[in-house]
Amino acid sequence: MGRIGILKTPHGKVKTPALMPVIHPGKQTIDVKKYGADIVITNAYIIYKNEELKEKALQDGVHSLINFDGPIVTDSGSFQLSEYGDIDITNREVIEFQEKIGTDIGTSLDIPTPPYVKRERAEKELEITLERAKEALDARENLMLNSVVQGSTFPDLRAKCAEIIGKMDFEVYPIGAVVPLLENYRYRDVVDIVMASVANLPPSRPRHLMGAGHPMVFALAVAMGCDLFDSAAYILYAQDDRLMMPTGTYKLQNLSEMPCSCEVCNKYTPDDLRSMKKDQRMKLIAQHNLNISFAEIRTIRQAIIDGNLLELVEQRCRAHPYLLDALRNLKKYTQLMEEYDPEYKNSAFFYSGPESLNRPEILRHQSRLKRLPQKDRVLLLPVFKKPYSKNIKNLLTSFGREKEYDLEKLGNFYKIEGLKTGNNQVMGESLQVTVVDIPFGVIPLEIDEVYPLAQNEAPSFLDEDSKKMVKGKINEYIKNFSEVIISEDVVKKFDLDFDLENFNINDLRLDFNDKEKIKYIADYQFGKGAGKALFYGDIQIVKSRKTGKIRHVYDGEDLIATLRASDGIFVLSISGAKRLHKFLEYPKNRVVVNSDAEPFAREGKSIFAKFVIDIDINIRANEEVLIVNENDDLLAFGKSILNAREIKDFKIGQAVKTRKGGK
Ligand SMILES: [Zn+2]
Repeated sequence: MGRIGILKTPHGKVKTPALMPVIHPGKQTIDVKKYGADIVITNAYIIYKNEELKEKALQDGVHSLINFDGPIVTDSGSFQLSEYGDIDITNREVIEFQEKIGTDIGTSLDIPTPPYVKRERAEKELEITLERAKEALDARENLMLNSVVQGSTFPDLRAKCAEIIGKMDFEVYPIGAVVPLLENYRYRDVVDIVMASVANLPPSRPRHLMGAGHPMVFALAVAMGCDLFDSAAYILYAQDDRLMMPTGTYKLQNLSEMPCSCEVCNKYTPDDLRSMKKDQRMKLIAQHNLNISFAEIRTIRQAIIDGNLLELVEQRCRAHPYLLDALRNLKKYTQLMEEYDPEYKNSAFFYSGPESLNRPEILRHQSRLKRLPQKDRVLLLPVFKKPYSKNIKNLLTSFGREKEYDLEKLGNFYKIEGLKTGNNQVMGESLQVTVVDIPFGVIPLEIDEVYPLAQNEAPSFLDEDSKKMVKGKINEYIKNFSEVIISEDVVKKFDLDFDLENFNINDLRLDFNDKEKIKYIADYQFGKGAGKALFYGDIQIVKSRKTGKIRHVYDGEDLIATLRASDGIFVLSISGAKRLHKFLEYPKNRVVVNSDAEPFAREGKSIFAKFVIDIDINIRANEEVLIVNENDDLLAFGKSILNAREIKDFKIGQAVKTRKGGK
C-alpha cells in the first residue's frame, strides 16, 4: 500500500513518503533543510501563546518566523490539550490564526483520545472531533487542512471517523494519538489502528502518522499506506544522548564505535562526543538522527520503485520482537493489501521467513489458480531448476528418434490410493504437470514463467510454517483431479499422509504443447476462458531464437499478443484487445472514460484519472486493461498505473498508460 506521491502546497511540491522535522518556533538551531527536509511542521498554538512570536508571525508570516521557505504544516494545540487538559483557544480561532500567519497546511483542534480508554469516552470525544472538523471547513478560506482520525484503540471507531472525514474536503488525513502506543512498543495495535483508518480514507489524499518519528517504524507505516511522518524525535533523542538507527537506538554511553557512516559518525568517536559540552554534542547527535531518518525515507522510496517494500518491512521488523508482532498482525489485512499490490514488479519475490507467506502475491496466485483449465489427472513434481518448463527439457532422453522425459531422474513416484476427489466426471487421460514449491505451493508448468512464479527465491531448508502451508495447498489442489501421481520427494518434504501405490513413471508420456500453454497464461492473467477467446484461428507461435521463449502469437498474419520476456505476461495487440473485449463481459477489465477523453484515447494518448467515469473494481496497478466509452465501444488498451479504487478517487494524474489507440 506504500506509494510515491507528490503533495502540492502553496510553497511548493513535496515528494512523499516524506519526513517533516518538528521545528520549535523561536528555539530552532539546526537548519533541517540541509539534511533533506522539504517540508516541516511547527506548532501554531505555541506561536499564538507567545506575544512576541505571535506578533512576528502575524506581521511577517510563519515562514519568516521559523526561517523556512518550503511548505509548513502547523499543529493546532491538540497535543497541549492532551497533555494539560485545557487550552485557551477555540477551534475557529486556531483555524483563523493559522490562515493569517500563512501556514500551508493547518489543523483543526481535534481531541486526541488516548489508547485503551472506555468506549464511551472514545465515542463522546470522537463526536467533538467530528464537529470541529466540520467547523474547520467552514472557518477556512484558502488554507489547506488536516483532519485527524481519532477513535482511540477501537478500530471500528477509527474506521467510522475515517469514513466520515474522508468524505469531507480535507487535503491531508493525519492518524492521531498513537504516540503512547509507539512509546510502549504496542506496534501491533498501531497496525490495527492504521489499517482501520487507511482502509476508509480516500486514496487520493496523503496520510500522516502523527508522532511516528523513529526510522524503525517508517517502512512498516509506509507499507500500510502512510505518506507523511513528523519527527521531534531527532532532537528529543539527541537531548538524551541517543542515536537512532533504522534497526533501533544506541545510547552514547554504551558506544565504543560509531555504528554509522554519516558525516557526524565518520568525523567523531564516541569519546569525542562524550567529552563535548552538552549543547554541541546534542546538535551533532541530532544531525546524525536527521541523516539516518532521511536516508531511511530514501531507502523506502527506492524500495517502492523496485517493488520490494514488503521485503524491507520484513527486514526492519526483525529488529524488535514487538515489531515482529506487528508484522505478523499484518496477516489479517493481506486481502486489502493485495488490492494495492501491483501485479507485476521489477524485482523478484524473496522469501525471508514464515511472514513472507502472508504476502499478497501468494494470496493472488491461490485465487488465480481457479481460473485455469481443468484436467483429469495430475503429476506432482518436486522442485528442480527454475524456470521449470524450460529445464524439464534437460530430463529428455533420446530413444532412437523418439524423445521422452526421463522422470526417473526426479526419484520415485507413487499413485495416491483411495482418494476422495471432488471431480465426479469420468476419468480421462489429460495430464496436468505441476511443480510443488515454496512459497507458492502448486505451480502448473504452463504458467511457471509468469511473474512471480519464476521470479522468486526461497531457502531450501524449509520451516514448519511453509511445510504446513504447502501441505494444505496440495490437499486442496488434488481434490480437482481423479488421479494423482506424486513424487516421493514431495511426500517426504511436506509430511503427506496418503496411502501410496507404486507407480511406474515410465508409463507416462508428457506432452508440452505451446498452444495450450498460451491459453493457460491468458486465463491466469485475464480470467477463465480468456485463452480460448484470444487464441483461435490459424495460431502461429514465434519464439525467440536466443532464449527459445515464446515471443509473439499470431492468427495468420495478424498479431494477437506478445509475451513479455521479463515477467511472462501477455501484452495485447489491437486485435487481441478486440478479442478480449468481445469475450469479457462489461465491466470486466475495463476503464470507462467520458466523451471528452474519447478522441485522446483513440489516438493512443494516456488516460487521466479525472476522465474515468467507471471502472472494473478488480483492476490492480500494472495490469493490461481495456479502455472503453460509455457504450462499451473499445477505444484503446493500456497498462493501469493505479488500482481501481485509486483511479476512481484521484482527480489529477495519469490512470492508464495507453499502449495503442483503436483509431
Ligand atoms: Zn551517523
